[in-house]
Order: sequence, then structure tokens, then C-alpha cells
Amino acid sequence: LKAIAVLTSGGDAPGMNPAIRGVVRAALSHGIRVYGVNRGYSGLIIGDIWEMNSRSVTNIVQRGGTLLKSDRCEAFKDPTVRHQAAEILREREIEGLVVIGGDGSLTGAALLAEESGIPVVGLPGTIDNDIHGSDDTIGFDTAVNTALDAIDRIRDTALSHERLFLVEVMGRDSGFIATQVGIACGAEMVVIPEVEFKIQSLCFQLANNRVKGEGSSGIIVVAEGPRPGLTYRIAQQLEENGQSPKVCILGHIQRGGSPTGHDRVLASCMGATAVDYLRAGYSSIMVGVQKGEVLDVPLKEVLERKKPLASEWIAMSSLLHK
Ligand code: ATP
Repeated sequence: LKAIAVLTSGGDAPGMNPAIRGVVRAALSHGIRVYGVNRGYSGLIIGDIWEMNSRSVTNIVQRGGTLLKSDRCEAFKDPTVRHQAAEILREREIEGLVVIGGDGSLTGAALLAEESGIPVVGLPGTIDNDIHGSDDTIGFDTAVNTALDAIDRIRDTALSHERLFLVEVMGRDSGFIATQVGIACGAEMVVIPEVEFKIQSLCFQLANNRVKGEGSSGIIVVAEGPRPGLTYRIAQQLEENGQSPKVCILGHIQRGGSPTGHDRVLASCMGATAVDYLRAGYSSIMVGVQKGEVLDVPLKEVLERKKPLASEWIAMSSLLHK
């Protein structure tokens, strides 16, 4: 293996930088040239590719975002465009590609590998932790901690003013971030797409808290869900039931910031392991972590199923806020 390339694609996640660094440093240590592709697949299809050296990744392990920039590239869904991308890699004698991103990016990676025969290894890079085949994803731990930091502050004002807050966290159609954040911030309730939401249960819970002398302050963590505006709809329903909640949408702050130690270590290991797998001749796989072990998972397997939120987590979260 003489040369490989690395790119970051889809929504950025804290830890993409240490992952890039892991790829670059591991490849160079084996005498393999490494190219960085700017702006994900958008850069790949126009050949926006540069040779990296050890200094290229100096001082990035602690930085959020991605040195290589990220993008969404509709054109990459077209097989002719993917064919052109493969030609660009071949012209530069690049014999392997590492793709860091979410399930959309990994779908593109799988198609490129299958159609071109160029070995591709994926890394799960998304704050949502919604990738089948890996217990953890690069950026999830940081996003949870960033949300917690913000909610701890909101809790102070909620207590001082005896106010109820609805705090919306990211996670699209999965409740991974919301469940962990809810447990860790001591939320009064967590609303996640995996469990049907009933306004009556929430009102009952709030009334119960008041009877127990817990006052009328509280934090309800809401996963954004697949349809925008859910948190405002819940706030309206609460108002109709005599409450006056405040809404706080955490939004993109959850995607930024310095990666936690956990994410830096996870991303560095995954990046270095991706190089090991390419050297061993693997392709169309993702580096995953299962029960603490770093392993290879076929991309086909990763992409054919949705990762469920374990029922134990859902039960734990509802147990703790009773
Ligand atoms: P996240 O969900 O965390 O933001 P993601 O990787 O899932 O990350 P997407 O926007 O779904 O984000 O996908 C990123 C890019 O991957 C797309 O812009 C496109 O270039 C490529 N991609 C997604 N789906 C496909 C597909 N079906 N075929 C080819 N390429 C795809």
C-alpha cells in the first residue's frame, strides 16, 4: 500500500480531527503517503486533494470541527459522478480511502468501493450515535457533555425562578443523546421518538412533583425528532394545561467544541485502526467498537439496519425521574 486518502463528510462531529490525525500518523509510520480531501465528496469529485505530512495534523487533536472541512454533496448519489471520483483517486495512485461520517457518508463509501474496487474503510463520525455495528460514535460523548454543560446552567435559573424548561437536544430520529443527557442532568422527563409521547403523563408527572414538594421548576429533555417544531408543540400543549414553560433549543452548539478525552481516544484508535485494515487488504468495512473491543464490521451490515436505543436505557431513564 503506497498511498491513501482521508475525508470527512456529512454533519461535522467533535473528534473528526483526532480521527484524521490517527489516520495520517499511522499511515506515515508505515511509509504510506496520505492525502487529505477537502470538503468531503464535494472535494473528491473535483480533485481538491493535497498531500499531508506529520506537521499537517499538529495541534488539532483538541480542536472541534474538521481540518479537512465537511459538506453534503448530492451529486455523489449519481453513479457517473462516483465513477469520476474513482478515476481521480486512480490518477493519483491512491489505493485506499478512509471516510469519516454518518450513515449517508458510509452509504456513499460502500457504493464507491463496490463500483470501483478501490478499498474503502469507514469510521462512524456523528454526534447522534445512531450507527448500527458500533456501540459508540466519534462525537457522541462530546455532544452529551456539551448539552449537559448548558442544561446545568439552565437548571440554576429554573430553580431560582421556579420555572419549567423544555430543552431540545439533537439526535434526529433517535433518542440516544436525549436519554443519556436526561439521566445525567436529572431531568424530570425525557421525550424521545422511541416512546409515544402523552401530554397527560407529563402533566401527571409535574403535578406529582409538586405534591412531593419539589416545586414547579423542572427540566424536560426533548429529542428533536424527525419533524421540526416538536418542542414548541409540546410547550403549547403544556400551556393549554395551565403550565408556562420556557423553551430552549440547544441546536448547533452540540456539534462544536473541543472533543472530550473519550472522543479523542476513540477517534485516534479508530483512525489508526482504519490504516491497519487497509494494509491488511480489507475493504467495504467500518471500524466499530463493540463491548469495548475495536473491530471491523462489513458496511453492508452497518447500513442494512437501524441501531435501536436499548430498552434498558429507556427503562433506566424513566426509573430515575419517577
Ligand atoms: P450526519 O447524519 O451525521 O449529518 P451523514 O453522513 O449521514 O452525517 P448525509 O447528509 O446523510 O450525512 O450524507 C452525507 C453525504 O454522503 C451526502 O451529502 C452524499 O454526498 C453522501 N451520500 C448520502 N447518501 C448517499 C447515497 N445514497 N449514495 C451516495 N452518496 C450518498
